[in-house]
Amino acid sequence: MLIAWLGASLEGRTVLEATRNDAAQRAALDAAAGKTRRLEIDVLATRRTLELHFGPVVGGAVLTARDVTASKRMEAARRDFVANASHELRTPVTAISGAAETLLGGAMDDKERGRQFVEIIARHADRLSHLTRSLLDLSRIESGEWRVDLQPLDAKECAAVAIDLERQAAERRSMVLKQEVPADTWVLADRRALEQVLINLVDNAVKHTPTGGTVTVTSQVEPGGVVLAVLDTGPGIERHHLTRIFERFYRVDPGRAREAGGAGLGLAIVRHLVEAQGGTIGVDSGSGGTRFWVRLPRHSIVTQPSPW
Ligand code: ADP
Repeated sequence: MLIAWLGASLEGRTVLEATRNDAAQRAALDAAAGKTRRLEIDVLATRRTLELHFGPVVGGAVLTARDVTASKRMEAARRDFVANASHELRTPVTAISGAAETLLGGAMDDKERGRQFVEIIARHADRLSHLTRSLLDLSRIESGEWRVDLQPLDAKECAAVAIDLERQAAERRSMVLKQEVPADTWVLADRRALEQVLINLVDNAVKHTPTGGTVTVTSQVEPGGVVLAVLDTGPGIERHHLTRIFERFYRVDPGRAREAGGAGLGLAIVRHLVEAQGGTIGVDSGSGGTRFWVRLPRHSIVTQPSPW
């Protein structure tokens, strides 16, 4: 019989009545007979996992319950992460070993075919390196190892770094890259993190916008901060994807994105970096294109009056 269960008085009720769990009832009877028992139960009504410990005492048993929901969820998230990461790594590794085997099996002697397979190896090795870098970045950020160093930064300079880096890719596809961030747009941010955020967003915009389109980086000063946005004239993202797009390994079109080498980690990294800087991130999208925005704390430069 129990005296209390999860804060509620249950005096006079059996363990089975209180927990609705056969195993818990059996463990209680075992404990009353002198055996220590430990078990985990899922309480469906509250969606929590409890670790129960039944210990024998004179004249009965004592039950100690520990809420292990958070650690169970973390464990599950870690397992998911390892499974997803292994799955993503397997594709390029399989492609590389397949191409190498074909080369060794004779393709090496045919100059034209040989070159094709070496190109496959180079492309997938590139993808592997991108993937491992993203995974490392993500785990560093999530574990708190990546420390941000917030300082006053001119957002125009950071936007220029991203635009310069993407210029060639944009030119190859006859796209226009525009930077509409006025000089002296001061934010309080970490230089490396902010540049990485803008590079990822501009890179995505260029990748997903058809030939001849336009990608623009803009800024807007608001009372609560500065909003930097990356706009594109691409096909847009369907509404039901928008709430999940910042999750790691989430892809809008898994088949096509995997072809293009994406593992759905870019925006997860971006979100973490923005939040680590005390900012917020969001996305608006429609048939005319997509707008990713980042709100960061504003740094107002107070100019001291000249003493002369
Ligand atoms: P990846 O690292 O694979 O590029 P991301 O996390 O950066 O993945 O993006 C997740 C998904 O969001 C991508 O699969 C892509 O389909 C979609 N996406 C991201 N940016 C845009 C954009 N500007 N326009 C359309 N789709 C986009």
